[in-house]
Amino acid sequence: MTATQAPDERVLSTLNRDGSRRWIRPKVSKGRFHRRRMIVGWALIALFTALPYIRVNGMPAVLIDIVHRKFTLFGYTFLATDTKMLMLVAISVIVTIVLFTSAFGRVWCGWGCPQTVYLEFLYRPIERWLEGSHTKQQKLDREGPNWRRIVKYALYIVPSLFLTHIFLAYFIGVEELWRWVRSSPFEHPTAFIVMAIVTGAMYFDFTYFREQVCVVMCPYGRLQSVLLDKNSLVVGYDPTRGEPRGKKRDPNAGDCIDCKNCVTTCPTGIDIRDGLQMECVNCTQCIDACDAVMDKLKRPRGLIRYASQNQLEGEKPRWIRPRTIVYSLFLCAAATAFVTLLATRKTADVIVLRAKASPYTVDDAGMVRNRIRVKIQNRDTVGRDYTMTLEGIEGATIVTAQNPLHVAVGEMETAGLFVNVPRGVFQNGSCEVTIRVTDGAGFDARRKYRLLGPWGPGETK
Ligand code: SF4
Ligand code: SF4
Repeated sequence: MTATQAPDERVLSTLNRDGSRRWIRPKVSKGRFHRRRMIVGWALIALFTALPYIRVNGMPAVLIDIVHRKFTLFGYTFLATDTKMLMLVAISVIVTIVLFTSAFGRVWCGWGCPQTVYLEFLYRPIERWLEGSHTKQQKLDREGPNWRRIVKYALYIVPSLFLTHIFLAYFIGVEELWRWVRSSPFEHPTAFIVMAIVTGAMYFDFTYFREQVCVVMCPYGRLQSVLLDKNSLVVGYDPTRGEPRGKKRDPNAGDCIDCKNCVTTCPTGIDIRDGLQMECVNCTQCIDACDAVMDKLKRPRGLIRYASQNQLEGEKPRWIRPRTIVYSLFLCAAATAFVTLLATRKTADVIVLRAKASPYTVDDAGMVRNRIRVKIQNRDTVGRDYTMTLEGIEGATIVTAQNPLHVAVGEMETAGLFVNVPRGVFQNGSCEVTIRVTDGAGFDARRKYRLLGPWGPGETK
């Protein structure tokens, strides 16, 4: 039997040596970066909330309709069949992340990530309002919950429900969301279960899991070691200025007085003085904490600051580097290809399909009748009426109750058509026709289609 041994050092900033959860109760440091982050954070919360309600060209600004495999972005609709464009969007997003990270490190994590923004500027303020400062919160951790903590947990349901509604609006649209909200759970049990599960996940995340998302779960955080180099901008401690640590009056000590304010304020529980760490989300709280200490000591600010590792070692900043050039070129190429495809793409898609019925019939007048379906996807910015005509065969006609076919903006409609063609034009059981679709506003598409018919004069299948 193997005995369990405690590690010599802490393995994870959010774990105690015995493996139990180490709750991080950071002290808020209200410096210049905190003020700026709060403004950015609340602007982003307003934007995240408003985006599903904003309409561009009659469509939602952002709608990721996974069920119908349809994505709407700022007035443009993309379907799963738009593989080239979707691939270019994916490449552009990935290269942008890589380029941005190699230049500015984890600025996104500290300033823009919804996990950080909602935790730091929505949930933690509620916590401080009810439970008090970080020391009072730690006391509650030791002594067990009192009524304030119970009220906090009950109150957290409200922002969790709010976030769930905002989150789902991106996937189902605001109209469907409000339909879900207004109807009884018994009418829409599936919708109710989805809402309950997402609310539960939000509640679990912001109540219990919290910084663990950044420390152990987020794939972006795990990629830092690959994406960063020594010229990337990070939040860093200047050891040449700060070390050796010592008392304020010690003439041989550096500027760091080992007050640990940068540690108690850290929301991921690390010590920035240990160097660049994967857990650091670049939230700048340690900068604000240390600047306040330096102000009191009447020493220059910036013992902890935004700088590259090379800058902290005394070298000049180097923004333009081979990797940033290569990433930028990749991004330009992908973005140019995407814009070109978008600019040249037609305002509608037309697909002609055989109907689910007998392949053809022959009437007494000798006309061969095929039943087909024409699917039209309107990608234009307004609803359109599409007219279908037949080309290529003398005496051929189409019969349909839906001509012109109205298709609302961003929608797909299907028209059922009977195509009547003289029997004499069939050779070896088939003939080719052209279905033409126009909208009277510039859209004009032709689709060739092979009709089925009799092989010989006596065949009437
Ligand atoms: S806040 Fe500044 S002075 Fe205090 S321990 Fe951290 S680095 Fe040193
Ligand atoms: S080390 Fe500083 S910047 Fe990094 S997470 Fe902690 S407080 Fe934020």
